[in-house]
Amino acid sequence: MTESIQDRIEELRRLIEVHNQRYYIEAAPEISDLEFDRLMLELRELERRHPELVSPSSPTQRVGGGPIDGFRSVPHPVPMLSIENTYSEGEVREFDGRIRRLLEGETPRYIVEQKIDGVSASLRYDHGLFSLGLTRGDGVRGDDITHNLRTVRDIPLRLGGPGPVPPVLEVRGEVYMTHSELSRLNRLQAEAGERVFANCRNATAGSLKLLDPRQSSRRNLRFFAHSEGCLEGLEPSSHAAFLDMVRGCGIPVVPHSRVYDSIDGVLAWCANALEEREGLDYETDGMVIKIDSFAQRERLGATSRSPRWLIALKVELWQAETRVLDIRVQVGKTGTLTPVAELQTVEIAGTRVSRVSLHNADEIARKDVRIGDHVVVEKAGKIIPHVVRVELEKRTGAERPYLFPSACPVCQGEVGRDEGGVYIRCLNPSCPAQLKERVRFLASRKALDIEGLGPALIDQLVDQGLVSALTDIYSLEARQLEGLDRMGEKSAQNLIEAIGKSKGRGLARVLGGLGIRHIGEGNARLLANEFGEIRGLMEATEERLAAIPGIGPVVAESVYRFFRSRAGVEIVRELERHGVDLTTGSGAARLEEHEEFRDRTFVVTGTLSRYSRSETETLIRKLGGKTTSAVSRKTDFVVAGRDPGSKLEKARALGVRVLDEEEFERMAGLSGAPAPGEAAGGRD
Ligand SMILES: [Zn+2]
Repeated sequence: MTESIQDRIEELRRLIEVHNQRYYIEAAPEISDLEFDRLMLELRELERRHPELVSPSSPTQRVGGGPIDGFRSVPHPVPMLSIENTYSEGEVREFDGRIRRLLEGETPRYIVEQKIDGVSASLRYDHGLFSLGLTRGDGVRGDDITHNLRTVRDIPLRLGGPGPVPPVLEVRGEVYMTHSELSRLNRLQAEAGERVFANCRNATAGSLKLLDPRQSSRRNLRFFAHSEGCLEGLEPSSHAAFLDMVRGCGIPVVPHSRVYDSIDGVLAWCANALEEREGLDYETDGMVIKIDSFAQRERLGATSRSPRWLIALKVELWQAETRVLDIRVQVGKTGTLTPVAELQTVEIAGTRVSRVSLHNADEIARKDVRIGDHVVVEKAGKIIPHVVRVELEKRTGAERPYLFPSACPVCQGEVGRDEGGVYIRCLNPSCPAQLKERVRFLASRKALDIEGLGPALIDQLVDQGLVSALTDIYSLEARQLEGLDRMGEKSAQNLIEAIGKSKGRGLARVLGGLGIRHIGEGNARLLANEFGEIRGLMEATEERLAAIPGIGPVVAESVYRFFRSRAGVEIVRELERHGVDLTTGSGAARLEEHEEFRDRTFVVTGTLSRYSRSETETLIRKLGGKTTSAVSRKTDFVVAGRDPGSKLEKARALGVRVLDEEEFERMAGLSGAPAPGEAAGGRD
């Protein structure tokens, strides 16, 4: 009888650990929460009736004893050293250089992991049972926080897994809190009138310092293991193998670790991972780069402060606190209403920041940014400044939630959510705010490149009614301009000349500047080259448009709708009336067979900025040329984009004519500039 009860208790404990692991570590629960609770309930009941069978490793004992009196300081069997931090690629390359010298020519193998911004801890398992949890402390001794770590759901109290249980397993890692848990906790803290936490790390540290495990169990802390302490009965040969063993025992390990044989691979992965850190539910503050092989680690050794075989590449987080003075919406060229926080000017990393985009209404709600709030603004790397969080503890009650306008703030026109449902747009096609943005876009360098027609001037032109439609810029006269701010006779004359000159930029630049949805520089060129002049494009069916290489159905629909709209037809008529060149230019206008291309063989290599490789090949064939993939003596031209690789070398070795992107476009008549004779000259 007792034996079968003991068996059932053991089975329940095992099942609960397994399902816990499925839930927390694999994020793939197999049973419902209700079923899980039933297992727990049954176990609790059996243990209540048979107290002699209760063991500290039972999942019912996570919140085992009562509060403790204070923290016991315990020595680490292996010291917990710190990591050297770097902030630049250059420093990581220096690290690689040092490693290579010390390894005397042997190739280092690196493993890269996310650097979780939590609180370091070490977990010790004796014969598979969680026996001791310590903080890092000064690295030599740490505080005993076993009672609190037992409440961390993804730390198993008993190791699972198929293999034999090692006599001693000590892992080091980070205890952390997710962003969603932090917001939940802060909401509760605020409601209870208690202090809220500034960030995930502070909340984690605060929770681990609690004396009462019942309190810390409500904090939903999590854990990731990232390195080894004292090991007995386990002899992994590499870090990757060690992580596999730990994972196999049921302990979560840092996600997304990758192994590389070169520092270039390491740095590329770091750049990628650091860019994506904003999308994670936990905080990371960089990447950790380690030597994977334990034999190599041994040879590299340690300095007194930190091991020589690892380094952290930290993101330089430039943060500053400031206040939100107001929230306003800006209207973009397609009518998008973008909320912008006006800030008390603050200096971050040498730049003055006085406004940051809040992106959209959902984002304001998610971060709960209110007018009057103290906020932390961050500028990380090349990313533009953004609001990280609101300092909730500084709220006085005087802050006002922002109400998103129900009409366009500029023209009072109707607004609506777009298809995706995230952005709100002004639906009025003659909205002056949209008009200003569209004129700016048309006049910009990549489009019609009208020198002197800048934002301040455009504002005046629209506000004073001199420009009330995009094409009105071509009706402007010098004397109308002379009355404007900072506009003399000479500058007015210059501007009129610049506007006049812009009429000759050609169809691609006009198309790219009209602000048709999905039509940027590249698509505009494809369309211009396909049709050669505007009328053919206007008359094309949606199917015809979608069949053009590089133009998909979405772009085709957008173009088709634009040229079927009254506004679109009107714009074209006005442009024609003012004599704007709506063709692909003189000499090399149409994509007809080209003398220089006929029966010539081309190889395209590397990355081109305006077309994909296959689009470029299609263009070449349309112009009468042939394309192949390998360079040989029969190749007439190699078109080389960025990072061209071995084909370029081969072309040079064989004396094949190499064209860069610009030369190729000139030769094909794709650029606005006339094709100079030498570029179309053929073989050397
Ligand atoms: Zn509007």
